Amino acid sequence: MRFISTRGEESYVSSSQAIIRGISKSGGLYVPEEFPRLYEKIKDKENLSYEEISFEIVKAFFTDFTENEIKIAINKAYKNRFKVIEKNGFLELYHGPTSAFKDAALLFLPQIMKIAKTKQNIKEEIVILAATSGDTGKAALEGFSGVEGFKVMVYYPKDKVSAVQERQMITQEGENVNVVGIRGNFDEAQRGVKEIFGDDKFKEELLSKGFRLSSANSINIGRLIPQIIYYFYGYFQLVNKQKIKLGDKINVVVPTGNFGNILAAYYAKEMGLPIAKFICASNENKVLTDFFKKGIYDRRRELVVTESPSMDILVSSNLERLLFEASGRNSDEIKSLMKELNLNGVYSINGKYKSFLKDFYGENANTEEVYKAIKDLYNKEGYLMDTHTAVGYVVLDKYIKDTNDTTKCLIASTASPYKFPRSITKALEIDNEENGDFEAIEKLNKFCKIKVPNNLIGLDNKDVLHNFACDFDDMRQALKDFLGGKHDKS
Ligand SMILES: *Cc1c(COP(=O)(O)O)cnc(C)c1O
Repeated sequence: MRFISTRGEESYVSSSQAIIRGISKSGGLYVPEEFPRLYEKIKDKENLSYEEISFEIVKAFFTDFTENEIKIAINKAYKNRFKVIEKNGFLELYHGPTSAFKDAALLFLPQIMKIAKTKQNIKEEIVILAATSGDTGKAALEGFSGVEGFKVMVYYPKDKVSAVQERQMITQEGENVNVVGIRGNFDEAQRGVKEIFGDDKFKEELLSKGFRLSSANSINIGRLIPQIIYYFYGYFQLVNKQKIKLGDKINVVVPTGNFGNILAAYYAKEMGLPIAKFICASNENKVLTDFFKKGIYDRRRELVVTESPSMDILVSSNLERLLFEASGRNSDEIKSLMKELNLNGVYSINGKYKSFLKDFYGENANTEEVYKAIKDLYNKEGYLMDTHTAVGYVVLDKYIKDTNDTTKCLIASTASPYKFPRSITKALEIDNEENGDFEAIEKLNKFCKIKVPNNLIGLDNKDVLHNFACDFDDMRQALKDFLGGKHDKS
């Protein structure tokens, strides 16, 4: 299996090259040259464990790793650290060290990257740069902390992530990791990281000091492939619990930000998994809803800070990979669409794309609807969902009313309700005081008796190890300071 760039220009690269580079020289994203038809191969083995499905999927894509190397990477990533649970049609992806679904990918990426680094004979230290809207940052720090040969620098929009998310990041231990708050929003942090990646002179300078940049954002193919696993696993769970028959089509609902999670579902379908519709759920930042409804992608609007901050995004990077498929893998067309987006902030797609995208349905939910859904579902069924997942739940409701399609549906449940506790206590109307996140965790726990994830217990008393904040223009300097050994431990 080889990988190509959505923007052409580069010839084929191997999986380890694609993983190490993160993004292609032309700014395009790596995609597999074809999709292995894996469903047919493993459909009769629906009792496979998460690790076993992981092995089959990873092996099919990352062919320049030995089976043993892949097994080691998967074990180190997931064993006793991460599990996926299907409950009431929710695919709970948040039972990992950071209580959000990004663990699924970011526990695996460092392990495979470490092996890829050796394979590519890279002597320099690899520096992972990540921009985060809240959850990626912590998951990257957790995944890479202590991994030899790597350093991690995470930029997050200061005051625009939840208190729990911020605490998780600024208390992160590990000599090789660092966190910086940016005075700006997520899109600015992401743009800053992209600019650093595009700055050849700066990269040369770092290289001469023994550092090579790479990414952990969901544009890295090493993050995308492991996200396919849980759709297979979730589908087989439904079969095993006799909620569907093998071969039945299901719909998936995905609370979406950067479009990585839902794209992985689409990749699963390309591999044969019976998925009918991809329901793309957005919050008030409904760029994708408008895109799927009208065929116009328009980022020219104010970013709204919502109760589902990990979805507060105006430019969903991974959409480029879907457009690449929709174009018939025409990199010239993708280049020109992305150029329009860059220059004018908007592009529109023609009929060819629209008919390709007919299985995608976009809709959005606002805070009021999210709160009501959280409360109603809890009161009715005792099931508690977080604000991101609730966006998906509301959108599914709208979809069903709109289409009368009652196909069995899996809702990607992307975070523990304890990760956004104040929103949940507000939604449930059990907290009338203006309490902080950590008081809200306690209140919520007393009320619903659902276990607080281990990683969130005692978090408020942990030492703050990273307290540096800077402006957009100083992102390069902050990186140099970190690599130069200047650490902001207080
Ligand atoms: C990142 C994230 C999302 C959005 O996922 P994408 O792959 O970026 O679309 C949704 N919910 C939570 C909790 C997240 O952390």
